[in-house]
Amino acid sequence: MFDKLKSAFGSLTRLATHSSLSKEDVDSILSEFELALIESDVAQEVVEGITKDLKGALSGTKVARSEDKADFVKTQLKESIHKSFASTTKVDLIGAINKKIKETKNEFEPFVVLFLGINGTGKTTTVARLAYLLKNKKISVVVACGDTHRAGAIEQLMEHAERLNVKAIAQSYGSDPAAVAKDAELYAEAHRVDAVLIDSAGRIQTSKNLMDEMQKIVRVVKPDLKIFVGDSLAGNDVVSQAKEFKAFTDFDAAILTKADADVKGGAALSITYITGKPIIYLGVGQEYKDLVPFNEEKFVESLIED
Ligand code: GDP
Repeated sequence: MFDKLKSAFGSLTRLATHSSLSKEDVDSILSEFELALIESDVAQEVVEGITKDLKGALSGTKVARSEDKADFVKTQLKESIHKSFASTTKVDLIGAINKKIKETKNEFEPFVVLFLGINGTGKTTTVARLAYLLKNKKISVVVACGDTHRAGAIEQLMEHAERLNVKAIAQSYGSDPAAVAKDAELYAEAHRVDAVLIDSAGRIQTSKNLMDEMQKIVRVVKPDLKIFVGDSLAGNDVVSQAKEFKAFTDFDAAILTKADADVKGGAALSITYITGKPIIYLGVGQEYKDLVPFNEEKFVESLIED
């Protein structure tokens, strides 16, 4: 996972270790590093941010021993990346659901999660995997088949729901997804189901229609959390998609799927840097269990220390 990005960080450390860190050295090391980041699908703004930080830190630095230099470069890199993660609000999904269950003990209200993202990113699969995860945490779930456009999407989610033994709420294709979402919320209220997970459509005729549709769902059910689902293999495209969804629906957190097949890693690094929203889970396979919490500390360590 993310091997290309790891190797970009590794070669930066090696190059810096064997150079005098004169201005010329730093310029040439950083321009090679920039290229390696771009090849790993890191977004341009992120490349610029990291190299600017490094340039400031490395220029004119007097570090004599090469081991000290390697440590110094690694520390600067980590600081630069952590800076982008530090500014994000933390999201603890399970904690937030449990908190709401406790707080609404007398007048029960379910915790509502809306999933956003374009077709094929793994939204439906992610809804199912999250339903599995929540059930394992003793949190009851109802799913809403809110993608009423893509052929097969309703059946796909209903099959998952059947396998997972959770209730699915659906209407016919072409129906209003906001109405499906509301039905699911009402079902959860009536049956004291803790969490409502709403799947949504990924592509309608125009992106404006899609965004209008998402905004309507948000107005009607007022989700407690909006999660952007992005395909980590889409590299820079996933960053543009995240920006567009953020502009219209200001999501709270992101889940990146297909990280198991992502040899580059640029999307994982760029999404938070650019949107200011945390990645909360990574999809790492096609089975229900293949949704793992994203740990930023471990992610940065694995990129830089390996
Ligand atoms: P949607 O159109 O966004 O609802 O996408 P789907 O949930 O139908 O997923 C599209 C494809 O991606 C399916 O074949 C999924 O099995 C696959 N997929 C989803 N998440 C992952 C993941 O984390 N890893 C891998 N390898 N495949 C995934």
